[in-house]
Amino acid sequence: MVAPDAVQFVTGDLAGSRGRMAFVRLRALIMFQTSIHAPPSFFQRDSHAYPFDPGPLHLFRAAGWDRVPAVIYDASLDDLCQRVWEGHRIDCGEAQRLYALPLEELGALADRRRQLAKANAYEGRGNEIVTYNIDRNVNYTNVCNVYCKFCAFYRTEKDEDAYVITPQEMDRKIEETIALGGTQILLQGGHHPKLSKSWYLDLLSRIRTRFPQVNIHGFSPSEFIHFRDAFQEPLSALIAEFRQAGLGSIPGGGGEILVDRVRQRVAPLKAMSDDWLEVMDVAHAQGLFSSATMMFGHVETVADRIEHLDRLRVQQDRSLRRRQDSPGSGCGHFTAFIGWTFQSENTRLRAPTVGAHDYLRTQALARIYLDNFDNVQSSWVTQGPDIGQVALTYGANDLGSIMIEENVVSQAGTTFRMDVAEMQRLISDLGYEPRQRDNWYRLVG
Ligand code: SF4
Repeated sequence: MVAPDAVQFVTGDLAGSRGRMAFVRLRALIMFQTSIHAPPSFFQRDSHAYPFDPGPLHLFRAAGWDRVPAVIYDASLDDLCQRVWEGHRIDCGEAQRLYALPLEELGALADRRRQLAKANAYEGRGNEIVTYNIDRNVNYTNVCNVYCKFCAFYRTEKDEDAYVITPQEMDRKIEETIALGGTQILLQGGHHPKLSKSWYLDLLSRIRTRFPQVNIHGFSPSEFIHFRDAFQEPLSALIAEFRQAGLGSIPGGGGEILVDRVRQRVAPLKAMSDDWLEVMDVAHAQGLFSSATMMFGHVETVADRIEHLDRLRVQQDRSLRRRQDSPGSGCGHFTAFIGWTFQSENTRLRAPTVGAHDYLRTQALARIYLDNFDNVQSSWVTQGPDIGQVALTYGANDLGSIMIEENVVSQAGTTFRMDVAEMQRLISDLGYEPRQRDNWYRLVG
């Protein structure tokens, strides 16, 4: 039994400046109405999560219901949603509260923040365009002595299928990438205990000389920490040398969760949070741009995820401030945030697989929390093309790469594949214009 006046009461706000939030309220109201006969536990469990306006409640009574369930009206949650809608920064406690919102309401807020973040991009067409990238993930070696519990990719030197890429293999992979319209290689590998610094520098120089049009997006922070320890050189000198040899930007791999208590449990031999952030800080100061990632859905809590986002936001503030303080210095910063879910097959870490619901909820929260990031990439590689597409309405503005080659996630049992035509179709179906971009989110072609 619906109280029509109540619906009108809410829809009357739809054309106003608070229109979208009124829509959210309308939906919450309908959920309430359709659930009015649900057992009391429904309301005890969920009613706190909806930003109800108390006004319509008397209308339910007027409409003949003699027993209206108690609803806790939390005006501060309503205010919080409104502040998110208007683009204000939120803190960790507020992020926790948003995480408990109904998924679609959180998604609507994240979509709003995406619109604010991209409004001025691409000559004002940022909210008509969804971008994608064509690159190839080249893992130069699978030999690694870090033994992360969540990793199914690493091998020891004695394993039969251990490898180190040859220059000829590298050339072939890059030539194939260029033939498919690719602009970049994502160069990452295990922490090989025996490769020398000159091996890496020769690799970079060779690629730069032979394929000057291809960006080398290479060596995550944990690899640089490995280089620092193995070659006994300061990070700043190493990054400068790698850059000189051809490195173009740095991937955000190895971020996992930037909370040491979590890292100690899943990857105790790997770079800790401060190390990871220090590499990014040094790289940004030297003019390199990087991405930021989060791998979630293992032993971490929601509070840990939020702490991870907070550390990224603080670093981005620092990098952007440095860029602003030194105009023309060319200092770098994070270009994008990419969240993906832990894939457990063939790993030593047991955890239930994170489904689409939690994935979308976390990505939406990241878009809202990371108010100083222009770009959020959806993760079709772990969630599949359909959820990757849906994620574009939960704060993401980029569908990532077609990933001509991917070895790490596929070793953990997830093997989604997509070509350019499929990627473009997924974007077009949502009403966006698909456009290829480069590492710096500049449109290609
Ligand atoms: S995630 Fe990277 S560092 Fe960890 S074991 Fe796998 S290859 Fe090594």
